[in-house]
Amino acid sequence: MTTTQKKNILILGGSYAGLSTAHYLLRHALPALPDQPSYQVVLVSPAAESIWRQACPRALLSDDMFPQDKIFHDIRSMFAQYPAGSFRFVHGAATSLDHAARTVTVDLAAGIGGSGSNSQEKVLEYHALVIATGASTASPLLGLTRDEKHLRQSWAALRRALPSAKSIVIAGGGPAGVETAGELGEHLNGRAGWFSSRLANPKVPITLVTAAPALLPVLRPEIARSAELLLAKVGVTVIKNARVQSVSPPTAGTDDVVVPTTVTLKDGRVLAADLYIPATGTRPNTGFVTDPALLGGDGRVKTDPATLRVDGAGERVYAIGDASSAFRPAVHLILEAVPALCANIKRDLLVAAATDGSSIASSSLPAEKTYVEDTREAQMVVVGRSRAVGALMGWRLPGWLVWLLKGRDYMLWVSGGLWTGKQWAKEAA
Ligand SMILES: Cc1cc2nc3c(=O)[nH]c(=O)nc-3n(C[C@H](O)[C@H](O)[C@H](O)COP(=O)(O)OP(=O)(O)OC[C@H]3O[C@@H](n4cnc5c(N)ncnc54)[C@H](O)[C@@H]3O)c2cc1C
Repeated sequence: MTTTQKKNILILGGSYAGLSTAHYLLRHALPALPDQPSYQVVLVSPAAESIWRQACPRALLSDDMFPQDKIFHDIRSMFAQYPAGSFRFVHGAATSLDHAARTVTVDLAAGIGGSGSNSQEKVLEYHALVIATGASTASPLLGLTRDEKHLRQSWAALRRALPSAKSIVIAGGGPAGVETAGELGEHLNGRAGWFSSRLANPKVPITLVTAAPALLPVLRPEIARSAELLLAKVGVTVIKNARVQSVSPPTAGTDDVVVPTTVTLKDGRVLAADLYIPATGTRPNTGFVTDPALLGGDGRVKTDPATLRVDGAGERVYAIGDASSAFRPAVHLILEAVPALCANIKRDLLVAAATDGSSIASSSLPAEKTYVEDTREAQMVVVGRSRAVGALMGWRLPGWLVWLLKGRDYMLWVSGGLWTGKQWAKEAA
């Protein structure tokens, strides 16, 4: 079926980038368009709920860690506040983009893993398209690799296995690996006292393997060393300069969240684990972008970093967030880019409306906005329930301040404003 009645502003993805863009456009772009009822924001996501992904390393331990209504949010309810007909949610996964025909095919039955034999396809035309499909981790414990039900099932399987686990191996020395190791370490082993540099004989030894010479490559070496010392206090041993070459069975940590695993490192060392968690970076969810010319070598959509337009895909096509090449994957950068992206979408929609015959004085067109990525050292990393390290705007922050900002609840305190759209109450100047 093809939907032609309205001019669709199609947003693919229901997380930080997609939801923020939808709220911003509904608040500040649609009301400025002539014949506003002829436009509709259509948001496509295989998950009916958004997840506060940053909190996954602690949320996976138990539902008691956080109020669940703050971790998961129903997407349809977030947008009930807008005028009838201005928003539509399509529960499905984009499976193919035809940028010449300006359509996206959506599988209503499938999760991100791909369409099943019972796939039900829907073809959506778009007047404007925003690609915000993010990126997935290999481990289903650390975000929406499929949908919220799959995430909850994966957490439940892990929780059943934790009481009898004797050893855990985590691959990946970035923030996801460090935070997951720290949370599991403190939860299972407790924390060494003030005068001990490491926890002797932890109940569940945890090994964190990284291919890099240090943890947390985004941060300066002193901060990475602090994180390593804090991990030692909760029973985590770090192996550096060691790449995981293979795991047996090959489905360990991905399709099989809980399975005894043999982890073989490139240098020949072999580690045995009751639980293996791969936290080694992410893979962009861009399989539906069938034209390889639109993708960079890393699978992200080639995006103009200043305008956030995908120039190779025709008029009014944009990308933001982890699926886009525009900037590094981080929530604060997405939130900084949303106003520039939406200003440019609004401008492009007004230009298109003028071309269609609406009387819009060129002097009333908003100026083009340019996004400039803040490349200063910035990352906050939680190490267990009560410790943290990090830097912001190029400055090293004291651990207690990082804990106050992020460590208490993984910044759930800002989630309400983001998911309700209140964060975007004012249009950026
Ligand atoms: C464990 C972990 C902890 C992190 N902690 C932090 C942190 O503390 N601070 C920070 O700045 N960053 C953190 N990050 C990175 C941060 O989570 C990402 O930068 C952010 O989630 C990217 O947001 P996004 O909206 O681009 O995409 P994602 O959050 O990846 O969401 C993608 C959305 O697109 C949907 N989708 C996927 N495929 C399709 C499809 N084919 N069709 C339609 N929809 C689709 C998904 O269901 C989802 O709704 C962390 C990442 C991980 C894994």
